[in-house]
Amino acid sequence: MSGSRYGAGAPTRPPGTGSGSVALGSVALVGAGPGDAGLLTIRGLRALESADVIVADRLGARQVLDQLAAEGVELAAEVVDVGKQPGHHAVPQDAINALLVSLARDGKRVVRLKGGDPYVFGRGGEELEACRDAGVPCEVVPGITSAISVPQIAGIPLTHRGLATAFTVATAHDQIAELGGGRDHTVVLLMGIGTLANSAITLARGERGSECPVAIVEDGYGPRQRVTIGTLETIAVQAARRGIRSPAVVVVGDVVTLSPYAPEALRTRKATQL
Ligand code: SAH
Repeated sequence: MSGSRYGAGAPTRPPGTGSGSVALGSVALVGAGPGDAGLLTIRGLRALESADVIVADRLGARQVLDQLAAEGVELAAEVVDVGKQPGHHAVPQDAINALLVSLARDGKRVVRLKGGDPYVFGRGGEELEACRDAGVPCEVVPGITSAISVPQIAGIPLTHRGLATAFTVATAHDQIAELGGGRDHTVVLLMGIGTLANSAITLARGERGSECPVAIVEDGYGPRQRVTIGTLETIAVQAARRGIRSPAVVVVGDVVTLSPYAPEALRTRKATQL
């Protein structure tokens, strides 16, 4: 199969750059998807195959590299891990930006492998800007975001005819207080476990009400994958009881009733209300 059809991965160098003794390298910001190598794009794989250095996050990215290795896909690139390890601090964003630029200036083809999609709460825009400001050629390879792919593990579509016509992806911070909308407007919370109890109260106060169904999918596509379903009223207690941990995606809205994991009471409640 010709690589070019799906994109060669690293961008070609613009003419006129690369003065001096070392030719200028490049950076590709690649979305790794939610942590299953099968959900990496072909363009992303091509970029990994042609990279000299891979600068990887822990969440999503690291698992994908490990799975590729286990499947016998040999990558020549050196891997630099900038993700948060339990008990350690992640490399600060400024240092990551500087690293990408300096590697590219050393002539390397760099892949910055990021969990999910680089632009969904991934600070990909900042990394792109840093590269552009430094005159480093940079392309973005979109990835499958956890916001959409992790709910699907629990059989939950974010929109569904008759149940939901819109969805919002947010973190569980201040912005959801002003979100508005009812149970037909699905809310997906990323990084939402620490503030789950507050978010549930905030959303229940609005049009959605305390009976609104909620699903939490932990560690989607990973070894700790688990689905918990309740309502805005019950979910914080359920989460505490079950020791729910990050990473997890929280889905709020009537689409949750479509999940085969939803208890019968929730499924029938929906049916009688329609
Ligand atoms: N750019 C990423 C999101 C980064 S924010 C994307 O598009 O997916 C990190 C948050 O994403 C986590 O706190 C969690 O809410 C969610 N997340 C990412 N991968 C996940 C996974 N495999 N399972 C559950 N949640 C995940």
